[in-house]
Amino acid sequence: MPNSTPAPIGLFDVRAQQALIRPEIDRRLAAVLDSGRFVMGPEVEELERGLAAFAGVGHCVGVSSGTDALQIAMMAEGIGRGDAVFLPAFTYTATAEVPLVLGATPVFVDVDPRTFNIDIADLRRRLALVKAEGRLRPRAVVGVDLFGLPADWRAIEAICAEEGMFALDDAAQAFGGALEGRRLGGWGGAAALSFYPTKTLGAYGDGGALLTDSAEKAELYRSLRTHGEGKTRYEVMRTGMNGRLDTMQAAILLCKLPLMEGELAARARVAAAYDAALAGRVQTPVRAEGYESANGLYSVLVEDEAQRARVQEACKARGVPTAIYYPLPLHHQPAYREAHAAAIGQAPPLPVSEMLCQRILALPMHPYLSEAQVARVTEAVLAGL
Ligand SMILES: *Cc1c(COP(=O)(O)O)cnc(C)c1O
Repeated sequence: MPNSTPAPIGLFDVRAQQALIRPEIDRRLAAVLDSGRFVMGPEVEELERGLAAFAGVGHCVGVSSGTDALQIAMMAEGIGRGDAVFLPAFTYTATAEVPLVLGATPVFVDVDPRTFNIDIADLRRRLALVKAEGRLRPRAVVGVDLFGLPADWRAIEAICAEEGMFALDDAAQAFGGALEGRRLGGWGGAAALSFYPTKTLGAYGDGGALLTDSAEKAELYRSLRTHGEGKTRYEVMRTGMNGRLDTMQAAILLCKLPLMEGELAARARVAAAYDAALAGRVQTPVRAEGYESANGLYSVLVEDEAQRARVQEACKARGVPTAIYYPLPLHHQPAYREAHAAAIGQAPPLPVSEMLCQRILALPMHPYLSEAQVARVTEAVLAGL
């Protein structure tokens, strides 16, 4: 049967990349099967060295997911009951979940309407309120590099240094991004990576890592990911968790890491083509001096919810998938409403986070989109406006 329908467009890529490296994946997985070292095999350390080199940081600790990376980093700071952890209200749920699991209180901060990242003026305002009320101890700021764009790390680092807080980079969507020429991983006290399959570096299952320049912190992270173990396996120094990265996933990631530079460049080409076709019609992602996005996702802002519904409909009719990251700000999530109310007595509103949830729309973004596919996406978007 002649095939006249064009190749389907995915929001993410799960096939094109694998086709390029399938023999290497088969070889690497076979080596793990032969060795039988399914937990903490040599592939884990090999990957840790590769990731640290790629990011240009001193240390990498492979862990079981991005969420566990955040948790291990906060456990290492001793964050718990009575502690305030500042984080954006417009992010994935995991960022807020971790402080709550540890008994700490997330303090939701509004985001910038252009970058979608944590708003520094609002961070200062909420920090002052928490300090004035005196019920919670400000302990950490989690900056999220949303959709791959680095947060304002200069400002976050400065505030954390002034206030004795820990600066934690949730770089789950942003591995490969850079600020002032320095890759993410090197900003803040530590950075958490996720290898969920759709992230810029994705495994075939769950995985994550912590990057840091501190040898001391790295040692603590290694202990915490293995039940708080000490110098010997059955010496327990602290309360930890089972947070190790699988050998199989490390083997997969070792096959994918060499593609990373080329894939980042391809993502940037797709983003530039989207920018060129859509600028002026919708709000396209901000491109600021010194900020290099990893282009993990490509999200535009349309005028309102009704227009977004029309664009999604037009895209769907043309075989173009779209998605909404995120439909609800975290302070409105049933699970977090109570914590939000308890954090600050009279918390100021979070209008930008609320506005973004109504107007944001993610378009297909991966390194293997062809020029023709990009054109199909932008034509569909423009048709729906
Ligand atoms: C994906 C993601 C996480 C969690 O990573 P997992 O590996 O799925 O646990 C945390 N924060 C952000 C911003 C994410 O996008």
